[in-house]
Amino acid sequence: MAAATLPSAQEWRSIGPEPQQQLALAPCAATPPNRARSATKMLPRFDPGVMETYLDDMREMKIRVHELFRQHPDLLPNVEEGLSKEEHRSLVRRSLKVILQAGYSPLDLLARDPRKYFYLGECLSMVDLSLMVKSGVQYSLWGGSVLNLGSEAHRRRYFDDIAQFRLPGCFAMTELKHGSNVAALQTEAVLDTLTDEWVVHTPDEGAIKWWIGNAAEDGRAATVFARLKVPDPNGGPKLVDHGVHAFVVPLRDESGNTLPGVEIRDCGYKVGLNGIDNGAIRFTHVRVPRINLLDRFASVDKSGRYSSPLTSQARRFAATLGELTGGRVGLTGGSVGVLKGAVTIAVRYAALRQQFGPPDSPEVAVLDYQSTQLRLMPLVATAYALHFAKGLLIEKYVDMKRTREPKLVEEVHALSAGLKAYTTSYTQAALSTCREACGGHGYAAVNRLGALRSDHDIFQTFEGDNTVLLQQVSAMLLKEYRQQFSGAPLTATYHYLRASLLGALPNNPLVTHDTEPRHLRDPAFLSKALEYRTARMLFTLSLRLRKHGPRLGAFHAWNKCLNHVLDLANSYVESVVYKTFLRAVAGCVDPECRRSLKAMSDLFALRLIEGDMMFRNDEYIAPAKSKAISRLVVQLCSELRGVALNLVDAFAIPDHILRAPIGLGGNGGVGGPQPDAYREYLVAAGFDV
Ligand SMILES: Cc1cc2nc3c(=O)[nH]c(=O)nc-3n(C[C@H](O)[C@H](O)[C@H](O)COP(=O)(O)OP(=O)(O)OC[C@H]3O[C@@H](n4cnc5c(N)ncnc54)[C@H](O)[C@@H]3O)c2cc1C
Repeated sequence: MAAATLPSAQEWRSIGPEPQQQLALAPCAATPPNRARSATKMLPRFDPGVMETYLDDMREMKIRVHELFRQHPDLLPNVEEGLSKEEHRSLVRRSLKVILQAGYSPLDLLARDPRKYFYLGECLSMVDLSLMVKSGVQYSLWGGSVLNLGSEAHRRRYFDDIAQFRLPGCFAMTELKHGSNVAALQTEAVLDTLTDEWVVHTPDEGAIKWWIGNAAEDGRAATVFARLKVPDPNGGPKLVDHGVHAFVVPLRDESGNTLPGVEIRDCGYKVGLNGIDNGAIRFTHVRVPRINLLDRFASVDKSGRYSSPLTSQARRFAATLGELTGGRVGLTGGSVGVLKGAVTIAVRYAALRQQFGPPDSPEVAVLDYQSTQLRLMPLVATAYALHFAKGLLIEKYVDMKRTREPKLVEEVHALSAGLKAYTTSYTQAALSTCREACGGHGYAAVNRLGALRSDHDIFQTFEGDNTVLLQQVSAMLLKEYRQQFSGAPLTATYHYLRASLLGALPNNPLVTHDTEPRHLRDPAFLSKALEYRTARMLFTLSLRLRKHGPRLGAFHAWNKCLNHVLDLANSYVESVVYKTFLRAVAGCVDPECRRSLKAMSDLFALRLIEGDMMFRNDEYIAPAKSKAISRLVVQLCSELRGVALNLVDAFAIPDHILRAPIGLGGNGGVGGPQPDAYREYLVAAGFDV
């Protein structure tokens, strides 16, 4: 996607809602004949190939990766067969090897070309989420922790073995009793100055490492997060606890036997992702050399003297966790991949499935029902919105890695936390909506929506629980707010808002009551409304915290405002996503594609405004305007229905990767007339047809 500046108001109008340009009647090729009669308004059709090219500048790589699985269909898990966890794990292992043998080295990509690394992850998401996550554990978590938290010596020592999967490894942070609260982990690493070794130990059952990916069967080493303890330099009797640090700890020998002091149990069957061997690990006085401390942010010499360029424990901790943002970027991409797959299945099926109709007439496609359009078209629009937002996140991540500019580090931390949380929660809800939109056949395992829902569910929890991540976003916004808005993206809005809330600047009544589609679809109105919402929430949250803080203390004041905190973070993310979408609309040169993108960006923003009572309560939007927005949302969904198949065809997920008989596309899945889904489905059920 090319970066683009935003068009002027006049230019937007030429893309947007000029009624005479917008409403060309152009029935979709796959639209049932009765559709044309019932159609009122439609967007001009576009070539999905052109849209795909705009969305995806690395499609050659996707084609090659997906081709690997056409050549190895045995590697695609058949959900109907009900693989045991051992069978699924073995399948995933073989798939990883096939990827490596084909010349893709995910760790090399992560280190040298992260855009391609994240793209590979998204390509694998609809192949098998277990495979995507297994690769993420080995390369982003295990490999990424060594590369990002260790020194050049660690990198030299481990890089090739990790890259080639000769040294499968783990990221062992979570414990039985502590997940989100990483600072409270209890595993300890005590320096023995006599032998120059760390003694890694699990002090009680609550500190057993839990859920550790790659641990149950494959892992031969792990990055273990433990409290670093050294003798008191002043000779006191107690050890000095420097907080949580990362250590490389071998787990198994080359034959796969656990090493002395290491006890590993299998976490067993999970709700999904059973191709990953999650395990629990207990350490009993395991000794590793002092150099196994991943010492990018702190080191300890032979005598036990601790030193760090970062002055406080809190800053070291933040720097350590800050280096792990790559995992969240990867999950965001994978989640967008799943969302695209789910809406592709649901839209294609809804366009084909017919139920009821006018008397003496053919039945209509369920996608022609207003309720189905309202269910599915916002999902398609949001899949596009999040696709572009994920692109922005990756660009910023790449820039951050290149420049290490502190402001950018903070921004990427907040953006990755916010987008990971928003995207994975959205996709999870969308999977249920897609299942429902497909009726009973959506519930058949072979159509994959159930398996995707089970596999994807945990994306909301691992790599940072979404509720916890959103709080980090709001904390960042409050910090910026307190820094007198200097350089903050919302500065102008804050000032406007303050004046407005103090009654000095009432909302312009003409704007409040304007119900014209031209105004309602004006990006200036939509972005301002979304910014107003974020700024208002930020302003009022800050007031509430200031009010409650002195009486309740910071922790309880925060907890009292927690819903507000979460709403603020979501609102901020939505504002960023919308702005990114607008840039993508502006950067698209093909007029037909751009028209559909603009309609989707309008729908994305209008749905948010429609669903938020705050605009009504604040009299930011008069009741008549609110009704006009609801009408426009319905209209946009109806218009987009005409290009719905093109929109999902542009995601270009080939049939052999999508694999849901009810969702197959024409021409192998990349567009064209839909094949007979019922026939595919009957064949999948074992009928001779
Ligand atoms: C399949 C799977 C794979 C995993 N892989 C790994 C791995 O490879 N390595 C690893 O180290 N870990 C791994 N994990 C662990 C995962 O990262 C943690 O489960 C996650 O960080 C959440 O921690 P928790 O389970 O302790 O939940 P908790 O933190 O106990 O959360 C429980 C509930 O409390 C809420 N909550 C917690 N804190 C707050 C708060 N401050 N405010 C409001 N609500 C709050 C949460 O939203 C949640 O609903 C994996 C987990 C699973 C299930």
